[in-house]
Amino acid sequence: MVDVFDKCVLRSDHEMAASLGIYPYYRPVQARPAAGEVVIDGRTLVLASSNDYLGLSGDPRLAEAAARAAGELGCGNGSSRIATGSLALHEELEGRLAEFVGFEAVMVVSTGYQANLALAPLLGPRETVAADLDVHASVIDAARLGGTRLRRFRHNDAAHLARLLEQTRPDAPRVVVTEGMFSVTGDVVDLPGIAEVAQRYGARLVVDSGHDLGLLGAGGRGVGEHFGMQPAIDVQTFALSKTLGSLGGAVAGPERVIAYLRNRGRAALFSASLPPSCTAAALRALDIVADEPERRSRVAAVAERLSTGLAELGFATPVTSTPIMAVPIGDTLTCLQMAAGLLDCGVFALPMVAPSVPEGQAVIRLGATAAHTDAQVDRILEAFATTGRRLGLLEALAAAEG
Ligand code: PMP
Repeated sequence: MVDVFDKCVLRSDHEMAASLGIYPYYRPVQARPAAGEVVIDGRTLVLASSNDYLGLSGDPRLAEAAARAAGELGCGNGSSRIATGSLALHEELEGRLAEFVGFEAVMVVSTGYQANLALAPLLGPRETVAADLDVHASVIDAARLGGTRLRRFRHNDAAHLARLLEQTRPDAPRVVVTEGMFSVTGDVVDLPGIAEVAQRYGARLVVDSGHDLGLLGAGGRGVGEHFGMQPAIDVQTFALSKTLGSLGGAVAGPERVIAYLRNRGRAALFSASLPPSCTAAALRALDIVADEPERRSRVAAVAERLSTGLAELGFATPVTSTPIMAVPIGDTLTCLQMAAGLLDCGVFALPMVAPSVPEGQAVIRLGATAAHTDAQVDRILEAFATTGRRLGLLEALAAAEG
């Protein structure tokens, strides 16, 4: 007899990390004294891996809006919107997001993951769907749920996308899916190139703006504003858990598409709706995104200081003004040791290892925030220098270059 539980073991490198006491995930955070800090095991650490790019998650104005909404409407909605109705607050948030980004309609759901999953009805067996190789897992899951055979084009490579679409049947509806700002590498989509190809082949363009809503564009309206090309995006998804400092997701598009997804998107139909607190916090965050553009300049300056410092140390990280950085480390165990070394130096930064990234290409993923002080950035850099030297990584990089 075989037991299904027999497969429930950690990967061998994770097991080794656990036995060495350096398993980095699921560490309980006891407190968040400030947006750029966490307390773990009683130690205050610089948080270097968060997606809270504008530093809003701990903003008292969001907390106050959330507390008021919870006081007035309760902590949960009891069920999905189809069962217990929408909140007026959901509709207010949908209207605000639609107006802010420039769409006819928006559907708010409970997470960014679910927003992408709710795209499944557009990704059916009849459709030809081409997605960037680096799209988030939730897009892949949406394709599985929808039943399409997902085709992948090389990361941000419009010419490869064109070759791929050229080989597909012209009589099948075509959909191209990409990300606004990529979640691991932090680079921005080649929207002019990808949108031109999508248009040439009559494909609808879907962009996951999980990370760029609130961040890119002079007004924080996301990647469409950044390129002055919002109308080129047919459907866009958002996560409210990152720049907006709350929790939740949204799908934006033409009225008839959003009405269709409201009634067909299983992720929206069969899951409890966004609680009042998170809805109100996201609404408040949208005000702040519009009113305080200096947060966007600050996070760009933090990202530049951090990425320049890492490059000067010898890490193979491009200098960037966008907040996500993937610092290449190599094999899984070295990357886990790197994270443990950073922790010893007072910096909490999480490793991304296989299978999230290809084997041998493990990275430490960093997220700069407007809340980081220059002193905190310097502490992150010192931690990378100390640990990089201790593990012999910087010497190896210098030798590879020389
Ligand atoms: N899209 C992208 C690009 C993401 O990186 C993520 C989460 N990291 C999501 C969607 C899902 O968002 P959430 O965490 O709010 O569910």
